[in-house]
Amino acid sequence: MQDYDVIVIGAGFGGLAAALEAAEQGHRVAIIEALKYPGGCASTFTRDGIQYEAGATLFSGLDEGNLFGQWRARLSLPVHFDHLATPIELRTPEMTLPISANRDTLIDTFCAMPGAPVDRLRAFFAEQGRVAEALWPIFDDPTRLPPLSWSAIGWHLRRLHQYLPLARIIGRSLFEVLQRHHLHTFTPLLHYLNALCQITVQANIHEAEAPFAMSTMDYPFRGTGHVRGGIGELAWAMLRAIEGLGGTVVLSSRVRSLSRDGGVWQIQARGATLRAPLVIANLLPQAVSALLPEPPKALARLTTEVASGWGAAMLYRTVRLDTHPEPYHLELVGDPDAPFIEGNHVFCSLSGQDERDRAPDGLRTMTASTHVPVQRLQRLDQRERSRYIDEVQAKMRQTIAQHAPELAAGEVSEMTASPRTFARFTRRPDGLVGGIPRRAGWASYRGLLPRAFLPGLYLVGDSVFPGQSTLACAVGGVRTMRAALSGRQLVA
Ligand SMILES: Cc1cc2nc3c(=O)[nH]c(=O)nc-3n(C[C@H](O)[C@H](O)[C@H](O)COP(=O)(O)OP(=O)(O)OC[C@H]3O[C@@H](n4cnc5c(N)ncnc54)[C@H](O)[C@@H]3O)c2cc1C
Repeated sequence: MQDYDVIVIGAGFGGLAAALEAAEQGHRVAIIEALKYPGGCASTFTRDGIQYEAGATLFSGLDEGNLFGQWRARLSLPVHFDHLATPIELRTPEMTLPISANRDTLIDTFCAMPGAPVDRLRAFFAEQGRVAEALWPIFDDPTRLPPLSWSAIGWHLRRLHQYLPLARIIGRSLFEVLQRHHLHTFTPLLHYLNALCQITVQANIHEAEAPFAMSTMDYPFRGTGHVRGGIGELAWAMLRAIEGLGGTVVLSSRVRSLSRDGGVWQIQARGATLRAPLVIANLLPQAVSALLPEPPKALARLTTEVASGWGAAMLYRTVRLDTHPEPYHLELVGDPDAPFIEGNHVFCSLSGQDERDRAPDGLRTMTASTHVPVQRLQRLDQRERSRYIDEVQAKMRQTIAQHAPELAAGEVSEMTASPRTFARFTRRPDGLVGGIPRRAGWASYRGLLPRAFLPGLYLVGDSVFPGQSTLACAVGGVRTMRAALSGRQLVA
């Protein structure tokens, strides 16, 4: 039996960030992880000597001044980050669109398209830029939401004028904003935004809440790139930093139950029992409920919201490709008029040619994913499910062959993962992608502030605002840990 000030369950990016924050503040912190490696959905795992990225492949926030950039400098994290001039290339039957890391270049690309409504495009991107400029700095720095200090309150007051334009788009879908700009028939932009929104706010342009969608449109422009050796290298670097600061790291130990007695939480895990007054669970709400004798109602509500989202169907390949030596990321769309899910939309990432440790004989690794609706999966019995996933993966192969023939031709081996096997890789119930779809409406603004679900029990990760990406989970992890340690939090 060991005692800590705070225990973090799960070493995904939300948990790693929370534990690092506690360790940097000098608290006695333990982080306990079921798998033998950290990172969760953003980990790098090894099969047959080959290192694949489990889910997330593109990283953001590593630039100087960004959250990860600051950690990297302050803690000398040994990670190498490759900036990519074109973080993503979108390929549809009608176009190949290099999504530049430079916003002006991207806007110019749209404006140069045949029949492009240049003035309307520029006006839309100008409004989008203002929205991103208003919101992005809030997500970049965990001290700003909630503003718990006078300096943070002052910071918000000084930029109040920047929030005013938001009043016009709150509660509206991105499509409504496009209609206002008379851009709702300019299909290259619609296809680009549908693809982007599916991977960022997890909803299409008709559903997506405009402020979130317009803010995440800045994603490619904000320190986005590739972690050399795989995204898991960053997770390992954070885990070692936690240890270096005196934190305890327990790997390969799944937490089995959580109970509270006399104001102290007791965590029963494989091979360990840990106690602390504070617990930060980097788990989906359904996973936390399964650990508790009496889950609170607020967790059930959040569970329903997460289950309205997506699971992931995956293909992991080794590929021989000598052209295009940089790591690269493709968004492939089979039919832009069909939903961007179930293999019709595939996000495909290839390791760099110089990442020789990741696969033997000059091979490169590829991670490809597509969204599948969880509610549909839950309606199917086991046999129907596996048939459905087989069909989705067949569609993924078809979309890859159609739009990325270089990857199809270079394929050397392939391993599949259904939401069920993805759940094994990441310990997520049903292989849920997490990240509550940010659908238009005020409900998207529920749960903006850190809150305790039971006294001393908090959640971090992509079911908690801002969620949705590795950077967002980390920002959420830090601000939740700060609120929990300072005792200035809401109780759900
Ligand atoms: C296919 C896919 C592609 C994505 N691509 C990108 C991308 O390119 N860029 C990006 O920024 N984001 C991407 N995302 C989103 C991003 O990966 C996730 O939002 C983020 O990594 C989730 O982090 P998290 O903090 O919620 O923790 P998780 O990643 O869910 O980690 C939770 C950890 O808890 C552990 N755990 C679970 N149960 C227990 C238990 N009982 N005891 C102990 N430990 C336990 C798990 O093993 C896991 O390590 C992608 C997501 C998916 C699914």
